[in-house]
Amino acid sequence: MLETITRDIDAVLRRLSGQLEGRVSTQADEGYRAACAIWAKPVGRRPRAIVHCREARDIQFAIAAARSAGIPLSVRGGGHDWAGRALCDGIVLDLGGMRDVVVNADIAWVSGGTRASDLL
Ligand SMILES: Cc1cc2nc3c(=O)[nH]c(=O)nc-3n(C[C@H](O)[C@H](O)[C@H](O)COP(=O)(O)OP(=O)(O)OC[C@H]3O[C@@H](n4cnc5c(N)ncnc54)[C@H](O)[C@@H]3O)c2cc1C
Repeated sequence: MLETITRDIDAVLRRLSGQLEGRVSTQADEGYRAACAIWAKPVGRRPRAIVHCREARDIQFAIAAARSAGIPLSVRGGGHDWAGRALCDGIVLDLGGMRDVVVNADIAWVSGGTRASDLL
């Protein structure tokens, strides 16, 4: 039973990797280690995959994959949450590459990975 579930999750992650070529990293990859290096150091949390998002489509595919595999999903912005909640054991959406800020008159559009310094 456990083997079947693991196989299914692996298949979903492989499909996601194909959909988002070059934007999905796993434990052996440098990008994975960088994304997991957050301010807090939660013990024992090992994401199965990190999706290095560049556009909304990447987020949509990753959410669909987490739903399909039945695994947790978390969002990593700046990685400064004191409790380390940016990381989970499933798929992590790394928004560090989405830091655009557009200011138009008195309205600002802020991307998910924006830091306070970007906004300022
Ligand atoms: C030393 C220190 C100093 C700080 N100083 C300040 C300060 O001066 N002013 C201030 O305002 N804050 C401060 N903070 C707090 C910190 O900046 C805030 O927690 C901030 O919200 C972190 O944003 P982030 O993008 O880095 O979150 P990340 O660490 O990237 O975390 C992602 C956030 O998304 C949430 N999340 C993850 N997955 C999901 C999901 N599936 N659905 C919904 N939510 C999800 C997590 O709970 C987490 O809060 C400080 C924190 C530290 C550790």
